[in-house]
Amino acid sequence: MKHFDVNEIRKDFPALHQKVNGQPLIYFDNAATTQKPQVVIDALTNYYSTINSNVHRGVHHLSQMATNAFENTREHIRKYINAAHTHEIIITKGATDSINLVANSFGKGFIKKGDEVIISAYEHHANIVPWQMICEEKGATLKVIPFQENGTISIEDYKSLINKKTKIVSVGHVSNSLGVVQPIKKIIEIAHQHNIPVMIDGAQGIVHETVDVQELDCDFYCFSSHKMYGPMGVGILYGKEKYLNEMPPYQTGGEMIKTVTFEKTTFNELPYKFETGTPNVADVIGFDAALTYIEGIGMDNIKSFESELMAYAIEKLNSIDGIRIYGDNKHKAGVISFNIEDIHPYDAGTIIDKFGIALRTGNHCAQPVMDSYQIQGTLRASFGMYNTKEEVDKLVEALIKVKVMFG
Ligand code: PLP
Repeated sequence: MKHFDVNEIRKDFPALHQKVNGQPLIYFDNAATTQKPQVVIDALTNYYSTINSNVHRGVHHLSQMATNAFENTREHIRKYINAAHTHEIIITKGATDSINLVANSFGKGFIKKGDEVIISAYEHHANIVPWQMICEEKGATLKVIPFQENGTISIEDYKSLINKKTKIVSVGHVSNSLGVVQPIKKIIEIAHQHNIPVMIDGAQGIVHETVDVQELDCDFYCFSSHKMYGPMGVGILYGKEKYLNEMPPYQTGGEMIKTVTFEKTTFNELPYKFETGTPNVADVIGFDAALTYIEGIGMDNIKSFESELMAYAIEKLNSIDGIRIYGDNKHKAGVISFNIEDIHPYDAGTIIDKFGIALRTGNHCAQPVMDSYQIQGTLRASFGMYNTKEEVDKLVEALIKVKVMFG
């Protein structure tokens, strides 16, 4: 195992070394987006200072260099998630874009009136609304697996929703509002017993867990670069070839076509059938650097460091009187959502910011989760590989001060 030194890692992230409101920044909003290591920032600058050019369409040197770097990233992503084929990796704008792609394209091709789609009650809005829209359009029904008090779904509840009308299941790997790791392997296994494909929204999963899409046997898996220490504006959709081949194009225009006449257009092969127009080349190449960076640290190292930090933070937060953590579960990754008794999360979050601590407040784009706990929102601390126990201690001190102010 490689050596893991959080202080060394912190040196790689320039944004961590600044003061906010006169205090050293403590960045606990990693589930929203992570900070970027210098190698990622450099990759962007290098791209624009050297090989900036459009991809897949030029014989000139710069275009070939940019195309190679872009396609090497696709291959890197394939290896990273152990997909069987490079053409099963579709580059999108983000996890939201990936889910919209599947909901619309799979929906157009395979969902008809009277069919059903299964999601869960812990989903991010990005994995609710696209399915709601396509169900409405097609006259299909959205079925929702409830979650239990501890934030996981019950497999029995899930099984009871599956029937002959079910066309697809789409669920999150880790819930962004509770941090609970869901039993996705089991969810996939059960769906496959009925020949139903499964999409996994991995936006909060892949940054904390090793993902092997062949081992999981998921049919689709999506995520965003910016939550993995990479640039914004880049998302990934992994899809099994057999589905991607059958699905109609999502958006249309340049890149995704083979031939165009006014009578008929034929579509490009995978993955280009789903990649329309000029892609975000610089940021895709930046994502390549982010993956290399993560691999250099080692996912096993990151996972064990983060789970120790999570356990420490949960214990410390629980020691404060009047704190309630939502989704009390031993399978948690990266996220702790909580409230302080009788204090509105916005008020607490605003004061915490004065201590230089970035927490997220609100419903975390998961309004149904808040509704099921009958709350308006929570405070959310979410961790990355560069957070420390000392930072957790500072958060605890700040929360105690908040309590005193409102007490
Ligand atoms: N799914 C989950 C679980 C998320 O946490 C998020 C973002 O927070 C998304 C999807 C959407 O990701 P993006 O905004 O990068 O498209």
